[in-house]
Amino acid sequence: MNIVLLGAAGAGKGTQAAKLVDAYGLTHISTGDIFRKNVAEGTPLGVEAKRFMDAGQLVPDEVVIAMVKDRLSQPDCDGGFMLDGFPRTLPQAAALTEALAEMGKDLDAVVSIEVPRDVLMGRLTSRRQCRGCGRIYNVMGEMPQIEGACDSCKGEVYQRDDDTVEAATKRLNDYDAITSQLVPYYSEKALLHAIDGNRTVDDVFADVRNVLEG
Ligand code: AMP
Repeated sequence: MNIVLLGAAGAGKGTQAAKLVDAYGLTHISTGDIFRKNVAEGTPLGVEAKRFMDAGQLVPDEVVIAMVKDRLSQPDCDGGFMLDGFPRTLPQAAALTEALAEMGKDLDAVVSIEVPRDVLMGRLTSRRQCRGCGRIYNVMGEMPQIEGACDSCKGEVYQRDDDTVEAATKRLNDYDAITSQLVPYYSEKALLHAIDGNRTVDDVFADVRNVLEG
């Protein structure tokens, strides 16, 4: 099964993605996580991406597309993958369609997790994340048992630079202006499934499962 998870920053893509990996054994490809890892390791890709990320801006299409094509060609994607945070623009979506066709693969579903903007803003600015494994926490909800240290890997739990009010506003504006164009793109291909993401994690996941198994 090959799927794309769509949703604005804070919609819960990362949380649902982790549950999907557990349930279906899909290879999780989060472009944000790949960029953050490269930033942490100081690779040339990380240095290039960092200035866009810190400002809450999208990394240029050609950089992201090359990175995703490379990732999709690795053998662990043959048993099924889940893209999280990609595509984010129409050129990225078109490049994905083309790259999958070249590989003889196809998408089975595009799941769009939809949450009202004021809820997203509250979630983003209270979000914390583990620098090590990427696990998500929230100052209004679940936080690590030992302050600042991830329950899963003991990595540092921190606030991302792009979760400040300014950067979060920019990211949500970009989603409304740019990424929302993917909804009609995938609707026309009869792949799109919209899910109400303003509910508990388990309720949202039950709907995601219904879509994928239904
Ligand atoms: P995320 O964790 O998915 O919210 O991504 C964090 C940041 O990484 C974004 O704000 C962008 O700067 C960059 N990024 C991740 N995925 C993409 C993408 N598909 N296109 C452009 N930039 C991206």
